[in-house]
Amino acid sequence: MLDYDVVIVGGGPAGLTAALDLSRAGHRTLLLERELFGGNLKHIETVDDVPGVGTGIPGAQLASELAERAAAGGVRLEEAEVTGIETYSGTRWVGCDGGRGYSTSVVIVASGRRSRKLGLPEEERLLGRGVIDCVPCDGGLFRGRVVAVYGSGDQALADALYLARLASRVILVADTPELEGSQLLQERALAEPRIDVRCKTRLEAIAGEERVEAIALARLEAGEPETVPVDGVVIRIGTTPNTEFLEGTVELDPDGQVLTGLALDTSAPYVLAAGDVRRGAQSQVAAAIADGAAAARRAAELLRRPAGFDPAP
Ligand SMILES: Cc1cc2nc3c(=O)[nH]c(=O)nc-3n(C[C@H](O)[C@H](O)[C@H](O)COP(=O)(O)OP(=O)(O)OC[C@H]3O[C@@H](n4cnc5c(N)ncnc54)[C@H](O)[C@@H]3O)c2cc1C
Repeated sequence: MLDYDVVIVGGGPAGLTAALDLSRAGHRTLLLERELFGGNLKHIETVDDVPGVGTGIPGAQLASELAERAAAGGVRLEEAEVTGIETYSGTRWVGCDGGRGYSTSVVIVASGRRSRKLGLPEEERLLGRGVIDCVPCDGGLFRGRVVAVYGSGDQALADALYLARLASRVILVADTPELEGSQLLQERALAEPRIDVRCKTRLEAIAGEERVEAIALARLEAGEPETVPVDGVVIRIGTTPNTEFLEGTVELDPDGQVLTGLALDTSAPYVLAAGDVRRGAQSQVAAAIADGAAAARRAAELLRRPAGFDPAP
């Protein structure tokens, strides 16, 4: 007998929704998460656009509630990093760090995306010491301080506006000619006296030994790089899919996003994908939840097929 009917990789809104639906339907369901249950919900100050959960609920609170509901619904939640998936006739094997692994009929990949990095060594070395990953989690540490946010889209603008309520000054740096996020966020950022917007400017370096002390900025048109003292820096230049562990198993597009069909099947039989990890995903909590529910429905359909009905889904 296989260890589980379904193994889900990733405990963000897509994975938690799929897990709860499947467990409620009586399937033995394991969900593996390498960091915090809730995924990128932790980055969202308040979730206002998910029907049925009310408005103004902090992302971290929704994350806890989804994880609690999944556990209460019978899902086995485990902290582990998935390192690879192998497919055999009739069985999938999900390998984890530390040499653990689980056999299962169906896998749902819901491993989402992470913020892209600039590639500066200080991003890793000074992470948690001035380099801020999660603004709603750590923003409070920068009360009365100076913080830089690098990026021009919605996530950069939302983080700059959040920090402007705490920091003495927020320097919003973008290498684009203008800000690019939604009109509403742009207007709010431009009207906020504590936000100093600097477009057409590249962040070239982060300086500091024990903590972030300064950043080096260069105007795109000309000029010498300028060193600006800051206490913190947030990099929001887009996101990248968490799919390294899938290379060679399922078909990915050139950006590393999983290719799926209409029913969320991937190129590997009985391996589905849901949420932000897929090409064409909406990058919204509501869409990830809907995707999780759709993947659960498809997984249940596959589980109803007679034993040995493999490989072509
Ligand atoms: C900074 C930021 C701000 C955002 N703001 C908003 C907003 O205001 N409103 C909105 O609707 N949406 C917002 N989003 C988008 C929203 O958070 C996502 O659309 C949603 O979280 C996607 O859910 P998901 O379950 O597909 O993936 P994720 O939330 O990315 O969750 C994936 C999970 O998989 C885990 N994982 C990855 N690889 C592995 C592995 N190998 N093994 C085990 N676990 C793994 C990750 O740790 C993560 O917990 C924001 C996103 C970011 C990054």
